[in-house]
Amino acid sequence: MIPVIALVGRPNVGKSTMFNRLTRTRDAIVANHAGLTRDRKYGEGRVGDHRFMLIDTGGISGEEEGIDSEMANQSLQAMDEADIVLFMVSARDGLLAADHLIAKQLRQRGKRVYLVVNKIDGHDPDMALAPFFELGLGEVFATTATHGRGVTSMMEEVLEQL
Ligand code: GDP
Ligand code: MG
Repeated sequence: MIPVIALVGRPNVGKSTMFNRLTRTRDAIVANHAGLTRDRKYGEGRVGDHRFMLIDTGGISGEEEGIDSEMANQSLQAMDEADIVLFMVSARDGLLAADHLIAKQLRQRGKRVYLVVNKIDGHDPDMALAPFFELGLGEVFATTATHGRGVTSMMEEVLEQL
């Protein structure tokens, strides 16, 4: 069975950029506009000999109403469908209240979660990671989804642990 990996996190942290990089498609809508990807998107990816299914989600902001609550539902459903969750946060934004909320949702579900600190370009990696250890989510990776830094090695490690 090919593992299902969900990309979860606030809008604008780089989920769709990561999805596109890993699935080699431009299927997910990448935009500067927070939360433009409203639906879950599925793609297939491969790193080395490992194949996987990837789910992109619209994101959770923590204060959902209307279309935003639909996005939040999509994200929660994606969490449930997945074998592994890559919980993405942004080194640019630092640790926000919504990140804490998502961490709580993930803990309640008991999923295998990896924390991905994205947008570390222009940051010292150690400094960028430090604030996020507070989330207490175990293994933490640093990535730049736009350029691919840290992405392949992260996926190798995640997939080897299956
Ligand atoms: P999503 O809402 O989580 O799906 O985020 P997107 O993938 O749509 O990305 C939001 C914005 O952040 C876009 O302008 C991306 O180009 C940008 N972005 C994504 N990853 C990175 C990164 O690693 N570094 C920088 N500097 N920008 C990024
Ligand atoms: Mg998106």
